[in-house]
Amino acid sequence: MTGEAQEDCLFCKIVAGHIPATVVRETDTTVAFRDINPQAPTHVLVIPKAHYPDAASLATGAPDLAADVLRETKAVADEDKLDSYRVVFNTGGGAGQTVFHAHAHVLGGRGLEWPPG
Ligand code: IMP
Repeated sequence: MTGEAQEDCLFCKIVAGHIPATVVRETDTTVAFRDINPQAPTHVLVIPKAHYPDAASLATGAPDLAADVLRETKAVADEDKLDSYRVVFNTGGGAGQTVFHAHAHVLGGRGLEWPPG
């Protein structure tokens, strides 16, 4: 919750450059990289560099940083020229969250159904 890097966090390791990733954008506060198991032609994860375990703790603990992440989802969509796209924050294991460092999925490049599974 403090924003400090966590030793056992996969995405903190990507931020630190200890695990490789296909980075598409980087700002002072965020990194965007391609998902290793893409579910759409564009599937990019936008993360805050600081560690917050999920979108809820990011929203309450660092709302300006949450805004940075959201702004970057639009930049990713613009770069991939997406007219329509989906931004997803899986929050909690029951919602499908598997990596507990807040991240926005940016999905696009194909038709997306609603409701999600
Ligand atoms: P979650 O299920 O919402 O937590 O999303 C975690 C995402 O991280 C999944 O879509 C995974 O495919 C993705 N992922 C896991 N490890 C890596 C990696 O090393 N690089 C890029 N994406 C990853």
